[in-house]
Amino acid sequence: MKILVVNAGSSSLKYQLFDMDTGAVLAKGNCERIGIDGAITHKCAGKNDHKANVSLPDHRAAVKEVLALLTDTSVGAVRSVGEIGAVGHRFAHGGERLRASARLGADEIAYLESIVPINPLHGPPAISGYKALAEAMPHAVHVGVFDTSYYSDLEDYAYIYPIPYELYEKYRVRRYGFHGTSHRYVAGEAAKLLHNPHAKIVTCHLGNGSSITATVNGKAVDTSMGFTPQDGVPMGTRSGAIDPTVLTYIMKKEGLTPEQAEKLINSQSGLFGVSGVSSDCRDVKAAAEGGNARAKLAVKILVHQIKKIIGSYIAELNGCDALVFTAGIGENDSELRALVCKDMEGLGIAVDEKINAAAPRGATVELTKAGAKVRTFVIPTNEEYMIARDTLALSK
Ligand code: ADP
Repeated sequence: MKILVVNAGSSSLKYQLFDMDTGAVLAKGNCERIGIDGAITHKCAGKNDHKANVSLPDHRAAVKEVLALLTDTSVGAVRSVGEIGAVGHRFAHGGERLRASARLGADEIAYLESIVPINPLHGPPAISGYKALAEAMPHAVHVGVFDTSYYSDLEDYAYIYPIPYELYEKYRVRRYGFHGTSHRYVAGEAAKLLHNPHAKIVTCHLGNGSSITATVNGKAVDTSMGFTPQDGVPMGTRSGAIDPTVLTYIMKKEGLTPEQAEKLINSQSGLFGVSGVSSDCRDVKAAAEGGNARAKLAVKILVHQIKKIIGSYIAELNGCDALVFTAGIGENDSELRALVCKDMEGLGIAVDEKINAAAPRGATVELTKAGAKVRTFVIPTNEEYMIARDTLALSK
C-alpha cells in the first residue's frame, strides 16, 4: 500500500509518500510560507527536484498543490491519487482521549477541535490539513498519530502537577509530553538492538525543540516536556524548566502581559537568550569556540540540564540499559554527546571517544566504551516512517 504522511504546521505542510511494501520513500516535500506567499520543494525518487513559488493562501491550497505534484507526469510518483490508500496525519496533541493512533472521523475531529485551547499553535493547521485531505481523498483511510499518545500510560503521579487538583479537573492542566512519536521510534529501535523488549531506555531528542523520555517495557514512564513543549531542557529559544516565580517576578518588574511573558520563555530564551548569538546550536558552539563567554555558558547550561534529567530518569527506572541520542543536535553534534556523557561512569555511562567523534551522519551507531554497563547509541529518528507504520496497521 502507498501511504501519504502529512505534517501540517502553522505556515508549512511537510509530506512523504511511502511504498509500505518496500518501505521506500517515493516522494517528499515541503510547502512553506502558507498564508504569506507560498513556496514548495518536491523531490521524487529518480526524477528532477522541483522548486517553485506558488500562491498558497491556506492549507487547502497547499494540499491541492501537493496532490497535483504527486500525480504530475514529470515529477510525480503515482498516476492518480486513487493509488494512495491511506493518509497518516501528524498531530502534536491528542489530549487525554486520543491515547493511541486512530482512524479519524467526525468524533475525533470534534474532540481535536475541543482541545485547541490547550494546543493553539499546532491544532488549527493540523485540523485544516486533515479537512482538506479528507475532502480531496475520500477514498483513503485517514489516521491521526499523536505525539502525546506515547505518554498515555504515565502514572498519575508523573503527570499531575502539585497545584490545586481542581485546576486539573477544570482545565486538564497536566503533563502531556511531546515528541512521543520520535521517542517511541528510537526507543523501539534501541530495544531491537538490545534484543530486549523490556529494556530500560532513556532517549534524548535534542533538536530545535528538545525532550528526554524514560521508557521501560516499550512504554514511556516519564518525559521532560509537560503541559506544553516548554518544559524540560533548554532549547533553541525556549527556556525549558525554570522556577515558575522567575516568570511572575519578571512580569511584575517589567510590566509584561501573559502573552509577552510566554513570548519571553518561548522565543527569547534558551540558547538564544543566554548566548545572545543564535538559537542554532551550531552558531552558539562556533561563537563559544571563538571565545564568546555567554555562548560558552549557554552550552554549559544545556549540558548540565540534560545530565540532570538523564540522571533523574535512571533513578526513576532504577537503572538503565540504553541511552539514545537523536534529532538535529543528538544525531550530529558528537562534541555535545561527549560532554553529556562525560563523568557519568558512576551511572554506568561511558562512550568511546573515537567512535563517537567518527560516527557518520544519518546512521545508527553504538558509542559504548568497552566495559560500560549502559549501552549508548545514536539512532536517527524517523517520525514519518513511524506514522506510516501506524497508518498501515490501522488501514487493514
Ligand atoms: P527541529 O526540532 O526543528 O526538527 P532539528 O532536529 O532539525 O530541529 O535540530 C535542529 C538543531 O540541530 C539546531 O540547533 C542545529 O544547530 C542542530 N544541528 C544540526 N546539525 C548539527 C551539527 N552538525 N552540529 C551541531 N548541531 C547541529
